[in-house]
Amino acid sequence: VASLAARGEPKKDVLLGGLLLPGFDEQSCVSRYQSVYYRKNMTRPPSPHLLRRLRQQEALQRRCGPGTEPYRRASERLRSGQNAGDDFVATVDGCGYLVLISYRGLGNRILAITSAFLYAMLTGRVLLLDPGKTMADLFCEPFQATSWMLPGDFPLEHFRDLGEDAPESYGNVAVNRSGSVAGLRFVYAHLDHAATPANRLLYCDDHRQFLHRVQWLILRTDSYIAPGIFLNPAYKEELDMMFPNKDSVFYLLSRYLLHPTNDVWGMVTRFYHSYLKNADERLGIQIRVFDGDEPFQHILDQILACTSQEHLLPGVVVSGGGGGGVAPPPIARSKAVLTTGLNSWYHDSIRDMYWRSPSATGEVVSVHQPSHELHQHFFRSTHDMKALAEMYLLSLTDKIVTSGWSTFGYVGAGLGGLTPYIMIKPENHTVPNPPCVRAMSMEPCDHGPPYFECTKKEIDKIIDTGNLVPHVRSCEDVPWGRKLA
Ligand code: GDP
Repeated sequence: VASLAARGEPKKDVLLGGLLLPGFDEQSCVSRYQSVYYRKNMTRPPSPHLLRRLRQQEALQRRCGPGTEPYRRASERLRSGQNAGDDFVATVDGCGYLVLISYRGLGNRILAITSAFLYAMLTGRVLLLDPGKTMADLFCEPFQATSWMLPGDFPLEHFRDLGEDAPESYGNVAVNRSGSVAGLRFVYAHLDHAATPANRLLYCDDHRQFLHRVQWLILRTDSYIAPGIFLNPAYKEELDMMFPNKDSVFYLLSRYLLHPTNDVWGMVTRFYHSYLKNADERLGIQIRVFDGDEPFQHILDQILACTSQEHLLPGVVVSGGGGGGVAPPPIARSKAVLTTGLNSWYHDSIRDMYWRSPSATGEVVSVHQPSHELHQHFFRSTHDMKALAEMYLLSLTDKIVTSGWSTFGYVGAGLGGLTPYIMIKPENHTVPNPPCVRAMSMEPCDHGPPYFECTKKEIDKIIDTGNLVPHVRSCEDVPWGRKLA
């Protein structure tokens, strides 16, 4: 930070209006203190109540987290099954735990972490992350003097294999055991996007039915579960106080929680300084293709139709004869385009277009893509680090075009506080009309929300939960998904 200030950058509020705490070792996680110099000013400040709740959660994480006596006792109880009975109250030591299983792509995992943290705050539980193979290489610790990583000696060895038919699953306990947790050492919450309706009942739980008796809650989700939680009347008052603006839940929580490690931050900043910093304007285009990893002409056509429709990129002047047209007098404006994607063909084609022909406006358009990994991989650190660096770089642009359905794109837009232009997922290899739509908010879409009303809990009756409360809506790209706006 000192070096940035020395370079003549005006001093900024690195603690983001109290969202972040002072006192961390700056060198061990420079992104926490530097990112403010790369971002636009915060458009949505945190509410005083959110700040209070964050401070409470930090205290809880410290008091009950790994390495403490309460944690030791709680994991011993989990190992031995002692005290697992209907009369057991999770507030022994005042410590309850929410363990998040890590699975699926990095965008999914980031949405899961952020919204699980919200759920942990609402239910007074310590959030512990399954470190998976790569998490420690990606993110710094968000809490001081404790760790949010599940310790290696966690007593449930096979917790990653839990599925929704497990006897401990929320659906089983709620429906088949009438809420009795007698003999269960933990409850397993299955909120995968394809969960059964019975398991989705958790969205409507107020924690007082039976979960308060359970010290350990193991959660599996690949989704942004926040919109579903906002549908639960039990949390309405609290959420209204925490988030007077409903369109910036992910924005605030992700900035609080997600600080890339120094290695990832180095990738972000080196790329930024080399290719993006000096442009007058930065446009992000996130290209995620679900039909296959090879290039598709209709996807390129869709990108160009979208950027043209929304006036995000200038057209080019093409003369006859195959050569470039005559350039209008250059206006001294430069536009840097950051493309991300597994394939480099889209990037190459757009860059070629502006190389072979002048832009119609005279703008100088440069096109850059950090990587082209070709295929999605699991459990590889460098692959995940690139993905995180790219989501971060997308968040540093001024305007962003994202691919519908993609959690990678939701993270890039949400982290940056950017309301994206979403390219609707094509059907039958044809460009949809319109090719993209302006999103109603910067919030991610929840792909697996509840379809029933919490006050009725009629799980066999599908209703439109997109009209129940004012700020939970049907997503632009996934009609059955729900998002905050
Ligand atoms: P989603 O599948 O689009 O919802 O996003 P996820 O992030 O959950 O999963 C896709 C995964 O594929 C990413 O985490 C990366 O591992 C990889 N991937 C997809 N698109 C890109 C990209 O543009 N850049 C990089 N580096 N990796 C990508």
